[in-house]
Amino acid sequence: MRVIIVGGGIAGLSVAYFLERAMAEGRWRGEILLIERGQRLGGKIVTVREDGFLVEGGPDSFLAARTEGRALIRELGLEMEIIAPQARTVYVLSRGRLMPIPEALLMLRPDPGAVLRARNLSWGGRLRALLEPWIPPRRSDGDEPLATFLRRRFGRAFAEGIAEPLMAGVHAGDPERLSMQALYPHLLAMERKFGSIARGLWNARSARPSGPLFVSLRSGMGALVDRLAASLHRTHIALGRTVLGIAPAPGEGRLSYRVTLDSGEIVEGEGVALAVPAFEAARWVRDLAPSAAARLAEIPFASTAVVTLAFRRDQVRHPLNGSGFLVPRREPFPLTGCTWSSSKWPGRAPGGFVLLRAFLGWAGDPEAIAGEDAILIQRSVEALRPLLGLRGDPVRAWVHRWPAGMPQYTVGHLERLAAIERALSPFPGLRLVGASYGGIGIPDLIRQAREAAEKMASFLNSDCSYGG
Ligand SMILES: Cc1cc2nc3c(=O)[nH]c(=O)nc-3n(C[C@H](O)[C@H](O)[C@H](O)COP(=O)(O)OP(=O)(O)OC[C@H]3O[C@@H](n4cnc5c(N)ncnc54)[C@H](O)[C@@H]3O)c2cc1C
Repeated sequence: MRVIIVGGGIAGLSVAYFLERAMAEGRWRGEILLIERGQRLGGKIVTVREDGFLVEGGPDSFLAARTEGRALIRELGLEMEIIAPQARTVYVLSRGRLMPIPEALLMLRPDPGAVLRARNLSWGGRLRALLEPWIPPRRSDGDEPLATFLRRRFGRAFAEGIAEPLMAGVHAGDPERLSMQALYPHLLAMERKFGSIARGLWNARSARPSGPLFVSLRSGMGALVDRLAASLHRTHIALGRTVLGIAPAPGEGRLSYRVTLDSGEIVEGEGVALAVPAFEAARWVRDLAPSAAARLAEIPFASTAVVTLAFRRDQVRHPLNGSGFLVPRREPFPLTGCTWSSSKWPGRAPGGFVLLRAFLGWAGDPEAIAGEDAILIQRSVEALRPLLGLRGDPVRAWVHRWPAGMPQYTVGHLERLAAIERALSPFPGLRLVGASYGGIGIPDLIRQAREAAEKMASFLNSDCSYGG
């Protein structure tokens, strides 16, 4: 009995972890083989430590309130590593100037005091946002684009100037296309139940965690990957192997799968977890379930890049008294945002230096990350120069590119996932897991992996008795 996991990102590694746990608890027995194309594990989680700088090439934090992430971190003995942001003020770019966003608005809470202090909004825009509790709820239950929802509830100025950069920005997505049902179902539920987001948040205030929204790990998100990989004692990990195809293996009894690798090897398993982006999975399931392949191929992806810049403190005039800034789409600016990493997290830069993390690229601009590293670095520095008062060139720079790296949950995403699941239902040994499906955040991926491993273990155990 063998399970093959394709993809060594956080999703694939977590599937292995939960399968090992099911094995340790006697719920199934077999072999686990994890196949990863790259020479390292972690996928989009990349932490680089150089000359006293700690650079995150992909995620730099995870949602604090989600139990799945915290539970795994605790089990891996990393709880003491959790750090909270030391600077929480978020700025937004408005007509070429950085304006602080009052904290309540980051939670979409249109508290009167906070709205009135939102200096990047016109007075009309502020008043319209304050009317949110009196805007009647939508009657239909169907999906709708994020931008439509925000304009409907809070008005255009608040939507475009504050909420969209925050809510679409983390997905590098186009708010006119992103799905409310897939990304923010709790807000739709709040609207249905309380008739208003402000009223819903007011009612939920006692359940709201008081700590920070996002937390990180002292030695970087890569520590999660390292600890997870080190905990896998029963998984055989094959690095530097690319999966080229998957086909049913001939034979009687339970359906098993033949996985073809670029090395020419063929491995067989009764269970296969595909922890790779949907467009990769689409290619492999084309012969098994053509309609699943077609729906998988419909999931769009945005290309982004993270350009991390180190400066001496005396090269930067701005006090960097916050966690960074967001950029509304209407601003003519080449970056989608910038995190002031050394202000936001402790231990990201040696004394006397600062670390800035600039984001390029979103769903509407596939060309934004084209060009040599030097071009992306120069574009980022020149964009930041007038805003932050930069002098001279960065002392160090790192570029991490993520071509087709950010899945887009566009309107209809949940219906698409349901169709894929139906089409793959004759293949219970085949599981899809990862950022393309039920959430892109690290805790979401850990939850997906746990569910996939549980289903896989009980399926593989379903008609076998191991007698303990
Ligand atoms: C710039 C950026 C910032 C982000 N910030 C945050 C954040 O702050 N917080 C947060 O929670 N999330 C964040 N995310 C999202 C999060 O990092 C990702 O959703 C998550 O890491 C994806 O994990 P995964 O395992 O699904 O996929 P991946 O990490 O993409 O892993 C897939 C793996 O499959 C391998 N693979 C692909 N094809 C094959 C093949 N044919 N054969 C073998 N192996 C293959 C790849 O090499 C890769 O290692 C961010 C993402 C990006 C890009």
